Amino acid sequence: MSPRSVRRAIFNLVVLLVPLNLLAIVVQFFVLGSDAIPLADIVLLTSIVGTPFMLGGQFIGARQVATKDRLVEMATTDMLTRLPNRRAFMERARSALSRHKGVMLLLDADHFKDINDNYGHATGDHCLQVMADHLQGLLRSNDVIGRVGGEEFAIFLPNVTMETARQIGQRISMGLLVETGTGASLQVTVSVGAATVGPHMTLDEALRDADIALYRAKTAGRARIEIAA
Ligand code: GH3
Ligand code: MG
Ligand code: MG
Repeated sequence: MSPRSVRRAIFNLVVLLVPLNLLAIVVQFFVLGSDAIPLADIVLLTSIVGTPFMLGGQFIGARQVATKDRLVEMATTDMLTRLPNRRAFMERARSALSRHKGVMLLLDADHFKDINDNYGHATGDHCLQVMADHLQGLLRSNDVIGRVGGEEFAIFLPNVTMETARQIGQRISMGLLVETGTGASLQVTVSVGAATVGPHMTLDEALRDADIALYRAKTAGRARIEIAA
């Protein structure tokens, strides 16, 4: 139980027991007669009876909140990489785009099918996890990132110049070395498309421009960043 839940439990206990005790006292004086049961006994009895009910309610409430949090996490998080999934990215990027200009980056790992074919699907999965950690390490807290496809990621960088975005994209495109588990390591490079996101631009427009630039990066030889015209 977190300190916050403990504080709330004590608060709820007081909130429940005070009116319960008042009710018992009213019953005592107006229904049973003032000398039926000593006042201290009423307070004690009511508190003893009320406390388990209050704690039970508190426990059920805490379980419901935890379940809801877990459901929200499952609906918005990609379970392999722990990044926001496509749906969460779209929602967060749309909100960020409505408030900030910036740059949209669309990333696609190069020749990923070959990695799976040559090293196995589990190594491919591991590469995606390492990539996700690597990407998160490069970003600021208000950048918006998501895994938007199998080996595809999108990043919205609010309030950056294209020059800064180009430097970040270039670092990403060089990729990284991933241990295969057999002592060897393999290089995973990334193609990146970048698009300026101006005021009043929609998310679909930003992604479409970045996708065209990404296609150019692929056809130009991969492991590079191309910027939308
Ligand atoms: P390109 O450089 O043109 O992007 O080539 P590519 O092989 O990366 O692209 P292609 O679209 O042909 O293949 C994508 C591969 O990514 C095939 C698919 O099995 C793999 N992939 C997608 N999602 C996952 C995943 O979650 N785990 C693993 N291990 N592989 C995945
Ligand atoms: Mg792809
Ligand atoms: Mg690919």
